[in-house]
Amino acid sequence: MNRIQTAQHPLETKARYRGRFAPSPTGELHFGSLVAAVGSYLDAKAQGGEWIVRIEDVDTTRCTMESATSILKTLEKFGFRWDGPILYQSRRTTRYQEILELLIQKGMAYGCACSRKDLASNPKSIDGAPLYLGRCRQGIPEGTQIRSYRLRVPDADISFTDRIQGTVTQNLEKDVGDFVIKRADGLFAYQLAVVVDDIDQGITDIVRGVDLLDSTPRQIWLYQCLNAEPPAYAHLPLAVNAQLEKLSKQTYAPSIANGDPIPLLNRVLHFLGLAPLPGDITLDAFWADAVAQWDIHKIPKKQKVIVQC
Ligand code: GLU
Repeated sequence: MNRIQTAQHPLETKARYRGRFAPSPTGELHFGSLVAAVGSYLDAKAQGGEWIVRIEDVDTTRCTMESATSILKTLEKFGFRWDGPILYQSRRTTRYQEILELLIQKGMAYGCACSRKDLASNPKSIDGAPLYLGRCRQGIPEGTQIRSYRLRVPDADISFTDRIQGTVTQNLEKDVGDFVIKRADGLFAYQLAVVVDDIDQGITDIVRGVDLLDSTPRQIWLYQCLNAEPPAYAHLPLAVNAQLEKLSKQTYAPSIANGDPIPLLNRVLHFLGLAPLPGDITLDAFWADAVAQWDIHKIPKKQKVIVQC
């Protein structure tokens, strides 16, 4: 399981393709999450790879077991077949704590006493949150207590070439600042959990929505801190409503749990630049044909595509 390496161990050569779909169970599956599921599945299967499902319920204040169960049922109904057991982030706290302690011990992470109020007047970071200017980098102010833990970031460009979106470069210090990996409410942050899980599960390729493009340099930095090789990334355009908002529970995206699989899957193929298949096809034949025609270069190189719900 453990692929997090120390500096003494050479990096492994790239293993066989292993992809994943990692939904946060905050509601039922909708068209937007189906796009990520289909994209990651077809890319894995077209390369003879494995595809796993991970339930990203690390934020237990927003996630429910009912949603997780509903998502898995819908995936099954749509004919997805995953490899190996499902991993639940809510059961991984001990592992995340172990990694946090490793990062603190290496001097890469530190306790932070700042509250939201302390940071409210800071300039904005790339994702709209206050930019962290390093107030607790050298230790917390006297008379204060540690609330959260942050990862130290370098004043250097982190660049990667996304298979769909092209080259992305970020200066983590200027664009994001030292970021939270364990929150003030004691929960581990998405950024830490996702990287630890992707490393531990041997994920070689990540295909997901473009809303996570800005998070990727932070995640690549975490790989570097843990002496692990980052995966290849492909960020799919985001399905948005007429107001250009991401389809989500918050924007009342309709659930597809009771939807008819083939028409919906055909809409996803069209969204991804592929030809829809005959409406009377069986699910097995649909997947075989869709895998055969998968071509990542046909995906529109856009960040947002409007869909009718
Ligand atoms: N759990 C995240 C979401 O549902 C996806 C994380 C990822 O693919 O890295 O938006």
